[in-house]
Amino acid sequence: MAYLQKLTGAQPLKLRDFDPEFDAGLDKETGEEKLEKLSAELTRQQELLYAAGTHSLLIVLQGRDTSGKDGTIKTVMGPLNSLGCQVASFKVPTAEELAHDFLWRIHQQTPGKGEITIFNRSHYEDVLVVRVHKLVADKVWRARYDHINAFEKLLADAGTIILKFYLHISKDEQEQRLLEREQDATKYWKLSAGDWKERTYWNDYTRAYEDALNRCSTPHAPWFVVPANKKWFRNLAVAETIVSALRPYEKQWREKLEVIGQREKAAIEEFKHSKVTQK
Ligand code: ADP
Repeated sequence: MAYLQKLTGAQPLKLRDFDPEFDAGLDKETGEEKLEKLSAELTRQQELLYAAGTHSLLIVLQGRDTSGKDGTIKTVMGPLNSLGCQVASFKVPTAEELAHDFLWRIHQQTPGKGEITIFNRSHYEDVLVVRVHKLVADKVWRARYDHINAFEKLLADAGTIILKFYLHISKDEQEQRLLEREQDATKYWKLSAGDWKERTYWNDYTRAYEDALNRCSTPHAPWFVVPANKKWFRNLAVAETIVSALRPYEKQWREKLEVIGQREKAAIEEFKHSKVTQK
């Protein structure tokens, strides 16, 4: 069952129409059981993707502070083989990065064939935080939606499967999570006065997110709004969406693998035969 709606840009959305508490009527235990099965399937899919070497998978994670980007990566992508899976985190750009176009640092981190890369924050920061805090002139960030769409089309044309997730939490849930961090010494490392400050820009971020989701949802690089107040449902919904998106590719990856296997077997036979005739 699909838990998330695939946004392709046809219908403009308002975030208030998405309930951050949504859980598809499941309970936590059932959700975790389903996640376990999906994780096993995703692991098998990664092996196929890696072995076939024809496609890459790019997962973009965006969300407000405390929305659970780190938790999603740990739970959903944690079980994957680190050999073909990387996380790229995008922080405040360095001087060198700022001296280039905004996609320069992003392009370097995109996955090669057979690989999976998870973007923890992404090029979308350049139309989110940059817009909210007026870090560049209006006309500069406004032009970026087209740049992003062209960039993602380029990646898709080169065989990249792109899935973009906005982790949607409510303002109350964020407050709860920020307060919890202050009570729990094991979470002190996550404390940041900046998070409370960013919270005061809540509505500006809502507008910026809505524009990004509406302007940059395409059939080849769709956005998904993930109800994220319940962490277990957030993990389940992201895992289910990834697994479902990869299923249609499995047949062609297996066929490719078969071709590779037959070719190598023929080469081995030829080698063995030449050894025999040399004797
Ligand atoms: P995180 O919150 O992702 O766990 P940090 O606390 O280090 O990690 O936050 C990274 C910060 O970098 C965020 O505040 C984010 O808005 C900021 N950032 C990322 N990309 C850009 C950008 N292109 N321009 C300005 N700030 C950015």
